[in-house]
Amino acid sequence: MRMTVLASGSKGNATVIAAGSTRILVDAGMSCRELMKRMALVGEDPEALDAILITHEHVDHVAGLSVLARRLKIPVFLTEPTHRAWVRMLTPRTTMSYAKWLETVQREKQMRAEEAAVGMAGGLAGGLLEEQAAIIDDPAEPAPQASPRAVEAVPLKAKADPAALPAVEYFRAGHGFSIGEIDVNPFTIPHDAADPCGFVFHARSESLRMAIATDLGYVPPNVKMALRGVDVLLLESNHDLEMLKDGPYPWSVKQRVLSRVGHLSNAAAAEFLMRDYDGGAHTIVLGHLSEQNNLPELARLAAEQAIGARWSLLSNRVMLAAQDTPLEPICL
Ligand SMILES: [Zn+2]
Ligand SMILES: [Zn+2]
Repeated sequence: MRMTVLASGSKGNATVIAAGSTRILVDAGMSCRELMKRMALVGEDPEALDAILITHEHVDHVAGLSVLARRLKIPVFLTEPTHRAWVRMLTPRTTMSYAKWLETVQREKQMRAEEAAVGMAGGLAGGLLEEQAAIIDDPAEPAPQASPRAVEAVPLKAKADPAALPAVEYFRAGHGFSIGEIDVNPFTIPHDAADPCGFVFHARSESLRMAIATDLGYVPPNVKMALRGVDVLLLESNHDLEMLKDGPYPWSVKQRVLSRVGHLSNAAAAEFLMRDYDGGAHTIVLGHLSEQNNLPELARLAAEQAIGARWSLLSNRVMLAAQDTPLEPICL
């Protein structure tokens, strides 16, 4: 079984998990071209990929998704809420004021009434209006409020569909499924996305487990449970608390990162490793390090101190995943 981190961090994430003849790309958070380049660098053949698996819809995890999936003609596995959020993100929108929106709705109503009056209801324009009404009625969209605020309007027809994928497969957190020779167990993580997940991958033929848990505000009990008995663990070690507090981010962003649905600090990752981790992993990869608010040495130091006496030549090797270059493949 093999884990190859192609990129990790807020500018893009992608990891290849391989076992037997199965290859899964977890997240496609860089351009298709960059992903192909990085796979070539580490000897992973893009044409051999069986599927793309998505943790959540943030752009650093999906930037190259549609182009890569269409190019390789492979299925994309994600949860339905993640898929819906991603499609919404890609749908071209224009922002208009509430007054303008009201005016448009009233004009359409008037047009509809006029058409009905001349017996054209159900014609082309009527059909389009119904289409837009359906979008406005979508419960996933916030209902327009009676106050002057900006509301979003969806154009009646998008030119091309940027969210087109060759095939989509839905999974649900807590419900395992298989891709080729790999069993995938998705688990819910606390993060400010529609339905974010981490994964445990199990190579059936080799009894090995590899896990990915990045983009989480803290480590809740279900994640602690999921990460038991893994052989390779890619764990978030996003920021040093002091560097974040003193760093350049505006206060609103600092609050988001620090929140229960933000990112895991070095200290929180270390606390997990000290208190809850079972000590059995061959390798721990620290990932999603902030370039602004962390230093690789700080992340490593915190993790190694937490692992303490359990560190040895045979287990608990600590590696650091980087943003700019792929990490050497971890083969078990
Ligand atoms: Zn991320
Ligand atoms: Zn995220």
